[in-house]
Amino acid sequence: MSNKLYFTPGPSGLYPTVPFHIQNALNEDVCAISHRSKKYEAIHENTVQNLKELLNIPDNFHLFFTGSATEVWDRVIENCVEQHSYHCVNGSFSKRFYETAKELNKNATKIEVEFGKGFNADDLNAPIETELICLTHNETSAGVSMPVSEINKVKDKYPNALIVVDAVSSMPYPNFDYSKIDSVLFSVQKGFGMPAGLGVWIVNERCIEKSKLLQTKGISIGTYHNLPSLLSKGINNQTPETPNVLGIYVLGKVAGDMLSIGIDNIRKDTETKAKLLYEFIQNSTNFEIFVNEPAHRSQTVIVANTVIPSPQINKILEPHNMAIGTGYAKYKEQQVRIANFPAFSIDDVEKLIEKLKL
Ligand SMILES: *Cc1c(COP(=O)(O)O)cnc(C)c1O
Repeated sequence: MSNKLYFTPGPSGLYPTVPFHIQNALNEDVCAISHRSKKYEAIHENTVQNLKELLNIPDNFHLFFTGSATEVWDRVIENCVEQHSYHCVNGSFSKRFYETAKELNKNATKIEVEFGKGFNADDLNAPIETELICLTHNETSAGVSMPVSEINKVKDKYPNALIVVDAVSSMPYPNFDYSKIDSVLFSVQKGFGMPAGLGVWIVNERCIEKSKLLQTKGISIGTYHNLPSLLSKGINNQTPETPNVLGIYVLGKVAGDMLSIGIDNIRKDTETKAKLLYEFIQNSTNFEIFVNEPAHRSQTVIVANTVIPSPQINKILEPHNMAIGTGYAKYKEQQVRIANFPAFSIDDVEKLIEKLKL
């Protein structure tokens, strides 16, 4: 088995227990059972419960499984917006979320800031008629986060709008206050260190009611994975389609492993590793911290400008069985992105830093 450490921000290195859980899944015939069986329902229920406990999600929220986070962008716009969505755009992922709403023929508006900059609640200027505010907790392309304390202020400013948070490249790190948000989405190949191909969509009753209201008005909320269909199956620990049973099984097990470590310890370790990385970058002559505002620096995807082109850095890391992410799109050569997910120990990060002392 390869022991290469993929500090890439998605897909990323596997969480250490994942191979063990996949092997057990095969031993238990998880990939062959019917998704309408009691055995599947037990797997589904365990994963939902472990995630709810790990992430401290209140009982009035539902947790549904989708094909990816990209899918949830579509679904949340279809199910929660009649006309007006509002988007905070500061990089490729938040921009794509905005474009999704436009392509679905919604009247989407945005506030956009320069690459490397972030948002505070005061910056938002959503039109009064806004139905859904789309926030990206961690903009993966730029390594910029919106602090949870700022996300929490948005609801007070816009009490009538639904608030959805894309937390794909930060979960399970952020400690959200679920009384201040209505929906969260993520996928599993980043912070959960799993094979890609599974999304998680968390919604409260307000989102469900909105989708039903749109349906009553004769507005299409789509057919695949609309909220009423997810809910009617989800109540019985099932999904409308034949789901990614292996992914759902492994996610429940990984969430269970994280529960035994304790989410507070995982969060503390994330901050310790981020501090090591940022301090190293700050003191290095080859690298420079990209995000100027310390409060907006991501704890889970660390982005730096680099003097040595990033593909060359990966050539240097290759014999040491390590890889980091290059910059995003046009920043490919001139930036590096280092994933700081729970799969990596403090030891792993220290090893990487040693090898980055070029
Ligand atoms: C990776 C990513 C996505 C897309 O996730 P998929 O699982 O590929 O659909 C969406 N938003 C953010 C912030 C991401 O980092």
